[in-house]
Amino acid sequence: MELQAFAASLEPLRTCQFEVAVLKDRLCILAVAEGQKPAFMTYVAKERHCSPEVAARLLEVIGGLGLVARIVALNSDPWARTPRVPPVFLAAIEKLWHTRLGHRQIWIVRDILAIPRRVRRRPDATTGARLGYPPCCDAADLEGKVQKAERMYQVARDREPDKSDRALAEWFRADPELTDAEMDFVQGIEAERLHYMDQVDRRFPFVPHIPCPDCLQGSSDATQRLDEYYRDLAARVGLREKVIQAVQDMANHVALRSLTGEPSGTISSRRG
Ligand SMILES: [Zn+2]
Repeated sequence: MELQAFAASLEPLRTCQFEVAVLKDRLCILAVAEGQKPAFMTYVAKERHCSPEVAARLLEVIGGLGLVARIVALNSDPWARTPRVPPVFLAAIEKLWHTRLGHRQIWIVRDILAIPRRVRRRPDATTGARLGYPPCCDAADLEGKVQKAERMYQVARDREPDKSDRALAEWFRADPELTDAEMDFVQGIEAERLHYMDQVDRRFPFVPHIPCPDCLQGSSDATQRLDEYYRDLAARVGLREKVIQAVQDMANHVALRSLTGEPSGTISSRRG
């Protein structure tokens, strides 16, 4: 089957609720078909990810270009470094994140042997490395997760200074309501992320991963080269303008949210 015909067969599959992610997912699957990307992965059966019906359809469709798909148990990356968080609280954070992602992943590859089993069997291979993300961006993403865990602990500990670590973890699992000040802090983190994503989308509208600051500032050209590849691929299958439009729509949506008082400001302006 030709790439364009294959691209058309992916058209009805909504792997995510966001249009831009749906389009990028399709480009990723095509990049796997071209041998330019080692694997594509999405989570199954959570509202932001692909439904069981789409997962089943993906498994059917991808044989057309000699690809293989499997649904496997959720992999989780090892921490880039040990977060400065008590182990019992860290376990609560990991449980929260896993619950949000779901318990299964769908992997699409050219070679069946590339489908991961348990990450503990290859502890050196991160999900980002398996998916072909640049090492600089993968490392920055893993460090970002560590910092996020530390910030979440900081919010909880400031709120409940007298609790034991175990009691604090139980309190956190119960999903407590946040005060306005805590909300400002958490939304400040979110606003910072959205601001970063806005810059990233303008510079690299086609890549599927979150580029690191080195790539964004141009001291690494790893993401630049990938973005050019995905832009050309999108042009060949008639998706170039659609991706640009979807990225623009997403940027407008984020700008509108900040105008209506949803996440705005930065951590530095909201602390102290
Ligand atoms: Zn990078």
